[in-house]
Amino acid sequence: MLKDLLDKKQCFKLVCGAGNEDAEEVERLVTIYSKAGCPFFDVCAKPEIVDAAKRGLERAGIKEDRYLCVSVGIDGDPHITKAVIDQDKCVKCGKCKSICPHDAIIELDKYKVKKARCLGCTQCAKQCPKQAIEMVTQLQDYKEILPTLVAKGLDCIEFHAITEDELDVDDKWQQIMDHFDGMLCISIDRSALGDIKLKERVERMLSKRKPYTTIIQADGIAMSGSNDEFGTTLQSVATAQLFQNADMPAYIMMSGGTNTKSTELAKMCGVRPNCLAVGSYARKIIKDYLVMDDLFENEQAMNEAVKIAKNLIDTSLENM
Ligand code: SF4
Ligand code: SF4
Repeated sequence: MLKDLLDKKQCFKLVCGAGNEDAEEVERLVTIYSKAGCPFFDVCAKPEIVDAAKRGLERAGIKEDRYLCVSVGIDGDPHITKAVIDQDKCVKCGKCKSICPHDAIIELDKYKVKKARCLGCTQCAKQCPKQAIEMVTQLQDYKEILPTLVAKGLDCIEFHAITEDELDVDDKWQQIMDHFDGMLCISIDRSALGDIKLKERVERMLSKRKPYTTIIQADGIAMSGSNDEFGTTLQSVATAQLFQNADMPAYIMMSGGTNTKSTELAKMCGVRPNCLAVGSYARKIIKDYLVMDDLFENEQAMNEAVKIAKNLIDTSLENM
């Protein structure tokens, strides 16, 4: 069970991307990482993406100890924003295309964002010399989407509580609890709240839950983990340390800027998370394999990708 993995501090979660609506890529990611031993998968809150993840699990051929989670966002959460290019301002310099870590920008007669692949990382908008890129939030109606998702047979729902709006957080948290009685996850970082408010919010959310039915996803800097350095993972360790010291009745997961150095750094700092979640870095290290037309038929390529993924998982779990 998922709880057993968390109790044993032997849980690794692959983050396919809360905004990743590319069903084919999600299927490939889940296949590779499941074959590599990853037990826990976090996907975008769309029924067709949950189906894609399930196809990946089927392909990997391992049915036991594999758990699916969907991530739902809220107004203010960067994970549910998409880049939109204003063609009147764009001067076609191509900077956005070359910087996008998820190959979400294409050049045809003009530069366009492939919405399904945009993860909302904002790197393109920050680099655009003409401020031609706007980040637009894609809100979902919880009452509409939650029953459909829950009917898919989920193991966890992750709520991105990254906003200053306390009332909106409480309202959405209650709606999730009304629809789902399994494991919940609170994804939170320090970007919008100071440490005191951050702890108060999580304590309030946990007060509505039974002990250890919730994971606190201690995020560092969202979608920043493309390099394998201690620096990118530092904030995640700091957030996890804050919650570990607060001794709340919940599991702690590190995420946001995570890589192979994350649990090593955590160990040096005396932080012992129950789970490590890796997104950007986990996707980047197998990027070349994800785009291969014949990946599922090419045994050698699949084995190479699985070996790379396994190294990340094993290295991470060794230090937990
Ligand atoms: S960086 Fe800005 S100006 Fe350059 S191609 Fe992209 S949207 Fe256009
Ligand atoms: S750089 Fe980030 S925000 Fe921009 S298109 Fe790519 S994934 Fe989306």
